[in-house]
Amino acid sequence: MEVGLTSTIPVEIILAGGHRPVDLNNILVTDPDAAQLVQQAETEGYPRNACAWVKGIYSIILRQDIRTVVVVTQGDCSQMQAMMETLAGRNIHFLPFAYPYDRDRAAMQTQMERLIELCGTDWQSAVAMQQQLRPLRAKVAQLDELTWREGTVTGYENHLYQVSCSDFEGDPHAFEARVDALLEQVEHRKAGTFRARIGVLGVPPIFTDLYQYLDELGVLVAYNEMQRQFTMAPSLDCDLLTQYLRYTYPYDIYLRMEDIQAETATRRLDGLIHYAQSFCFRQIFDHVLRRNLDCPVLTLEGDRPGPLTARDKLRLEAFAETLEARRSVYQ
Ligand code: SF4
Repeated sequence: MEVGLTSTIPVEIILAGGHRPVDLNNILVTDPDAAQLVQQAETEGYPRNACAWVKGIYSIILRQDIRTVVVVTQGDCSQMQAMMETLAGRNIHFLPFAYPYDRDRAAMQTQMERLIELCGTDWQSAVAMQQQLRPLRAKVAQLDELTWREGTVTGYENHLYQVSCSDFEGDPHAFEARVDALLEQVEHRKAGTFRARIGVLGVPPIFTDLYQYLDELGVLVAYNEMQRQFTMAPSLDCDLLTQYLRYTYPYDIYLRMEDIQAETATRRLDGLIHYAQSFCFRQIFDHVLRRNLDCPVLTLEGDRPGPLTARDKLRLEAFAETLEARRSVYQ
């Protein structure tokens, strides 16, 4: 059975139940008609000032006739929860999953056990799936390392392969073959040189050309905060429960900040872009990040799927120049 996901959840459970996970965010952002899908939800009554991800996912569920969807009702956002309710009466089976805000182990275990039951599997099989996925997760972590250590994997590739770890494109074996092919391909690439090294924070950007444009500017995206979290690479040696308690996305901003600060130092980043999705509550974290992070931060807001605007491009260019100039002073 195909199981739609509105956010990253313990995918091991879906796979252990013999189901095919489909991250609806990934389908939306790679769909050539993504902007139209957002528009379609508005035509059906969604407000202009609702998040475009939510509207797009609503339309995708209907268009692809997805009958079972895991909705994250805590640790993602209330807009997604409302979206689920607007689909009531359409014969869609929703499986709610709530990350406990305080990262309580027992509460997390209850949530996972519930999902296990709904997916028709058991804890042992989920743990066995976790072990089976480890080598694949480790290979994606290797791609990430090649990005920031060697610059042989591009910022876009880094984003794409890491973001895909939420559902492994529905087929871990086929995905692993693609990862292997890229690892082989990059062996023949020369180490890159860049005018600046940056990180991208926040939910994955809705822009279709951000990474390509930064590449054109000679800026290496050496850290994709959330996408790296989706790979679970920071918890490869943990048990299944701990893996999802260490995953920073659903919890408080301070847990995220520890990760950002450590990676900014390790990856020697010159600056950070904080991607803020229009109408998302996570925008509120912007000033907390700016106040607490030790390097220049550019906040970039995006609304609908599509390319960067001329103004966005100008701001990115100016940011790249600033970082380059600071680099020449501090190095
Ligand atoms: S970007 Fe924000 S508002 Fe939109 S779906 Fe994600 S968490 Fe919710």
